[in-house]
Amino acid sequence: MNSFSRRDMLKFLGVGALGSALIGRIGFAPQAARAQGAPAATPIAFFRFTLGAMELTVIRDAARQQDPSVLGRNAPEGGVAEVLKANNVPAPITTTFNVLVARNGDKTMVFDTGFGVAAGGALLATLALLGIERESVTDLVLTHLHPDHVSGALTDGALTFPNATYHYSQAEFDFVNGLPADSPLAGVAATNKAIFEAAGDKLKLYAPDTEILPGVTTIAAYGHTLGHTAFRFESEGQQMLHAVDTALNSVVSLARPDWHTAFDVNGALAAETRRRIFGEAARNGTRIFAYHFPFPGTGFVVAEGEGFRFIPIM
Ligand SMILES: [Zn+2]
Repeated sequence: MNSFSRRDMLKFLGVGALGSALIGRIGFAPQAARAQGAPAATPIAFFRFTLGAMELTVIRDAARQQDPSVLGRNAPEGGVAEVLKANNVPAPITTTFNVLVARNGDKTMVFDTGFGVAAGGALLATLALLGIERESVTDLVLTHLHPDHVSGALTDGALTFPNATYHYSQAEFDFVNGLPADSPLAGVAATNKAIFEAAGDKLKLYAPDTEILPGVTTIAAYGHTLGHTAFRFESEGQQMLHAVDTALNSVVSLARPDWHTAFDVNGALAAETRRRIFGEAARNGTRIFAYHFPFPGTGFVVAEGEGFRFIPIM
């Protein structure tokens, strides 16, 4: 089922000894918070905008360099390099990790957690800078099992957001619990199971097509992982689609939506989902936001050539 290796995943995620260098070197988080040899903290970057009555803040947890070959597992030889060159994108590519914080009424909702403080993630330092106390977060929504999304859910083994409900996809929960011990995702599954255990009765499983929080509706975006979920935000008639990891790269994954990435658990299903989600956003002119698109990760898409083109608009 999983044809990508753990080594590839570590390379892409930029963690461990195989990790690529961080883009930024100027730290913000206290040095004492990092173990020796851990990546330097990412410099602070955030962007705040509104959607109707909803306040949205994008926090850059990290920015890392990656080998672009992971973007085209089934691409023809040299295909990825060709698309990058045609778009004047230098390799290695720079990937950002964008955490979304949404405030609506009395809810403070965080979508994914980045890498965590110990791995140099900037989420907590940025929240502190913005005056958002961890205790004030009412809901943490995890989109799928990958470590660049969930590793910050626990800090020193305890819930990072102690008063929050931890929302998790039912389909992903079943996927995690069904992974065999020899799966390349077994280590990642253990990380997720530790979160389930720490959350206890604060863990709430969500289904697709459900308004799980005020103005936030789940969309099945399966393929990248078997329970990977996207979200529709709506307030006062305005909409935004959080595509999460439906596309990993704003250039290659949109120009060639049928190319599977090294991290798509079901490549064919991921490609179908990519065409459905971005096709709908292109047709309707819906604002999109994506976890790995260049910070702050928001803009619009248009249909072009074999796929789509991203128009970053703040
Ligand atoms: Zn990701």
